[in-house]
Amino acid sequence: MIPIVRRHVKITTTAVLGFPFRCWSCHLATTAHVKAEGVGTSTTAYISPNQDAATKEAQAAMHANARKAFDFCLCPRCGAPSQVTLQAIEAWDRAYPGGRRVRKTAILLVGTGITVALALACVVTMMLTPTEGMSAMDMLLGPAVCGVGIIVLLGGLATLIPYMASISPPRPILATRNPTTVWFDPPTP
Ligand SMILES: [Zn+2]
Repeated sequence: MIPIVRRHVKITTTAVLGFPFRCWSCHLATTAHVKAEGVGTSTTAYISPNQDAATKEAQAAMHANARKAFDFCLCPRCGAPSQVTLQAIEAWDRAYPGGRRVRKTAILLVGTGITVALALACVVTMMLTPTEGMSAMDMLLGPAVCGVGIIVLLGGLATLIPYMASISPPRPILATRNPTTVWFDPPTP
């Protein structure tokens, strides 16, 4: 048997990229420099790892990271947040109207409603169950214990699952300063 030899290569690329910057608020025009890093990996069996693919991946990741840092940077002169930042906040507010609290309340109400409905269904079932040959205790205790268990379980699940699913990504925050990896040329005349 030939053992499978897996080779792994990881490439990290760092560079400073330039972006033309123009402030929508004070109309400052300059060049932004962004220092960014990107990581690329490649894993292969038998043949030597694909260095080219890993390098390409690292460079693409580096460009994407630099672009993202640039898109969210503040104007170095007037401190205005970028249009991208404002749009991201606007999009978040549209996707999660009222923020997280409203959704939490809505889900808790629905969860409670389902629990109450299950409890009613259980009571009705108990009332309709034939009672011949059973003592009063049998009639109450058995179904009650099993009913409560099922209700709590189903009601809890009905609340928990949508609650977990509703956890929203954090609202984009307005930075108060640019990261040290972003700097600007003096204004172009
Ligand atoms: Zn500005």
